[in-house]
Formats: sequence, C-alpha cells, structure tokens
Amino acid sequence: MDYQAILEQIRSDITPHLGQGKVASYIPALASADPHDFAMSLHLINGESFHTGLSDKPFSIQSISKVFMYEMALSLFEESILSRVNVEPSGNPFNSLIQLEYENGIPRNPFINPGAIVIADMLTSHFGDNADQSILQYFQNSSDNFSIHIDTQIALSERQSGFRNYALAHLMKSFGNITNEIDNVLHTYFNACSICANTIQLSRCMLHLANHGVDPVTNNKLLSAEHAKRINALMLTCGHYDASGEFAYKIGLPGKSGVGGGIVAIVPNVMSIAVYSPSLNHHGNSLIGTMALELFIRYSGHTIF
Ligand code: GLU
Repeated sequence: MDYQAILEQIRSDITPHLGQGKVASYIPALASADPHDFAMSLHLINGESFHTGLSDKPFSIQSISKVFMYEMALSLFEESILSRVNVEPSGNPFNSLIQLEYENGIPRNPFINPGAIVIADMLTSHFGDNADQSILQYFQNSSDNFSIHIDTQIALSERQSGFRNYALAHLMKSFGNITNEIDNVLHTYFNACSICANTIQLSRCMLHLANHGVDPVTNNKLLSAEHAKRINALMLTCGHYDASGEFAYKIGLPGKSGVGGGIVAIVPNVMSIAVYSPSLNHHGNSLIGTMALELFIRYSGHTIF
C-alpha cells in the first residue's frame, strides 16, 4: 500500500478545515498553539515510517501520557490496580467530579484525570519524588529517543490552573484512594502530562502496542503480550473521554487523545499512528485529528473489525 500517497491525500483533504474547532485554553500555556498546525506519522512494525505535515514539531502530549503511566503501573502492580482504578468507560468528561463522588472515589478508568491521578499516586509511592523522571525515561526508552522532554512551563501553567485536578485529588484522598501528599502526586501528574514529543516520536513510542508489547525495531520487551492486549482494550473503550464510543464506531481502532491536540492509534500487528492538530471538538479531542484518522481508515481499509 502506498502509505505516503494516503498521507498526502489526507493532508489535502483536511486543509480546508484547518482552524475549525477550539484550541484548549483552560491550561493557559496550551492556548498559544497554532490552530492551523497539522502533522501525521505512521510507524510500521517492519520498521518503515511515513510522515506528513509538521511531523518534527513537538507538542504537549497531555493525556496520551496516561497510556504510558498505566503501562508502568500494570507491570508493577498487576491486578491489584483494579481495587483503586476501574476499567470501564466513564461516559463523562475527563475532569468530571460527579461520578467520583457517588462511586466512592474509585475512578472509572485510568485514562480520565482522576484515574491517572491515582496511577500517579501509585507511581509516586514506588519511585518517590522522581516518579516524573521515571515516566519520562519509560517514554524515551519506548521510542528509543532521548530528546523527548518535560516542558516545565506547561507543567507550571497546569499547576497554577489545575483547580479541578486538585479538587479530584482531594475528593479521592477523602475516600482513602490517594496515599501520598497531594502536591507530590500532582507534581508527578502535571509533569507527565507536560511531556512534549512530535508525531514521529509519538508514533514510534506506541509501536510496541501494535506488536504484543515488544518494540519490533529494538526487540525491547516493554510489556507482556497480556498487558499489551489490556492497554489496547482500554484505548478502544476509554481512550476518548465521553466520545470513546463514537471513536470506536467511526474509526474502529484502539486510540488515545490528549487536549494538546494529539491522538495516537494502533492497528494491531501492522502499525502505530500519531496525528496532531491542536483545535479540539466539544469533547476535547482533536477535531482535525479525528477527521484525519477517519480518512485514513477509509483510504487504507485498516480496522480491527
Ligand atoms: N493535563 C490535562 C488535565 O489534567 C490532561 C487532560 C487531557 O489531555 O485529557 O486537565
């Protein structure tokens, strides 16, 4: 299949729509992203890669880091995680407090903010105050690329405007589901969300998830096959906040989005995909990124169904 031609066709198709949607502004440091930016990258498990647009421009991956945090936690804590974070779609926005109150401080899944904050608490217990650096290293290791970094300005901006995340953490602590100091847990969480990468690096990072947990380029085993299956299942059912069903319905691939405008998706046994465009739809998912993935499915025929 001529993947480069497919990417160029997608880029031409989406160009008239660039600028639609709204860049996230509730984290002030994200508001300066250019709504006309677009990039898309594919990494195949045979080692080939294809790119279009601003694929070397780093952006804030935001919630996409939750996939890596959960991978780390699953390897460390196995099934015991389930007593603290569930694995069900939430049907609610990523920062909603309501469900958490009536479900006794147990978040629905690790890909919404409260779930990732509990995972950050578990990683902070294990790695101490440098848990953010351990997450960054895991990320660098999975991409075989050490230029991926934490943007400390974005992390600071998140901390200064993170009122809801503080509220979620306090509510969960009142139920006994946060064990460390809230500031330490949120330091881990905000720094992990503030990891910056471009679509080349990001699609490369995800490649092991298309290959049963093993990076096919380095043969580095990041996850067991069983855990890789679980992460893919969670991305399919919970990867897009309260639009996860719609993403599965329209695109039919495991995926995860972030409010920075990135989306990653996995074609099992074939490839990993990363797309970036910072304007979001009303669910907080990249509007053009979602459109680009729909076009990719249409042109390539790749879907898990
Ligand atoms: N750091 C963001 C927040 O906590 C992540 C949101 C997202 O990408 O879903 O609000």
